[in-house]
Amino acid sequence: MLKLDVSKAVKEIKKKKAKTVVLQIPEGLKSRALDLVELLEKKTKAKVVLVMDPLWGACDLAEEEMKMFSGDLLIHLGHSKFCDSKIKVLYLPLEYKVKEVSLEKLERILKNEKIKKVGLICAVQFFNSMKAIEKGLKKKKFTVLIEKGGSKSTVPGQVLGCDQSAVRKLEKKVDGFLYIGDGIFHSLGAAVNSDKKVLSFNPLNGEIKDYKKEKDLYVRKRYGAIARAKNAKSFGILLSRKKGQFQKELAMEAKKNIEKKGLKAFLFSMDQIKAEYLLGINVDCFVNTACPRIVEDNLNDKPVLNAKELEEALN
Ligand code: SF4
Repeated sequence: MLKLDVSKAVKEIKKKKAKTVVLQIPEGLKSRALDLVELLEKKTKAKVVLVMDPLWGACDLAEEEMKMFSGDLLIHLGHSKFCDSKIKVLYLPLEYKVKEVSLEKLERILKNEKIKKVGLICAVQFFNSMKAIEKGLKKKKFTVLIEKGGSKSTVPGQVLGCDQSAVRKLEKKVDGFLYIGDGIFHSLGAAVNSDKKVLSFNPLNGEIKDYKKEKDLYVRKRYGAIARAKNAKSFGILLSRKKGQFQKELAMEAKKNIEKKGLKAFLFSMDQIKAEYLLGINVDCFVNTACPRIVEDNLNDKPVLNAKELEEALN
């Protein structure tokens, strides 16, 4: 169950004397959105504009809506701060309320895998669960290490699909990693960024999973995409206009490098990158400069590379 504490939002709206509030809410919470809007409007004098576009990450700030509605405050629910912005943003990361975690199973599996020094990583919504597990494992005589990631992470141990530095910083110091959270995206990202064993523990259902098979498949697919791209004569470089995903320099650099090889390169700008927007666009390969998740999408059966993979394909 996600803990939703609106008192901070009410306090901030009152403090800023906000008349118009723009509210961004993750997909999984949309069923509770109207109750939340009613509550905020009742407890403050503000009018709330609810953004209905899908919200996948903290990289996506509704700056356009803030401008168009002359918003006084943007409330961004579900994620922690990711990038600087000129508008006033209140980030309200959510925390899962988790029943006490039984450590016996975790202890057994870590011992089986010969992991004595364990690096803990988490999704921000599971930070408190991770801290509880840290305490428990230390009591059981494990060496537990947690490292703060890059500028995109707000709490120690936090990993994002686009920031796995908490893993890379510990790579040489641990026998393996334990990811605390749900879903596959973050743990697979950690596994791809490490040569050590990465186990994933979901405190919501107690499941422990090793993503090795998924990692091997992912790596094979990436090599396949690079191999296909080696024959490409024309490239479409994908740029997202989302605040935290927009990477103009990276896109320009990619265009320059492609053209240096005597190949064609086009710049494509979108808010959300979707296959249907690219229908009828006749290029052999796409280069993604936005959210790393996009390379896994099937964009009209064309290979999709990230910037590093492009270098490999061109050389
Ligand atoms: S760019 Fe992708 S991985 Fe990074 S925060 Fe945004 S949605 Fe998440």
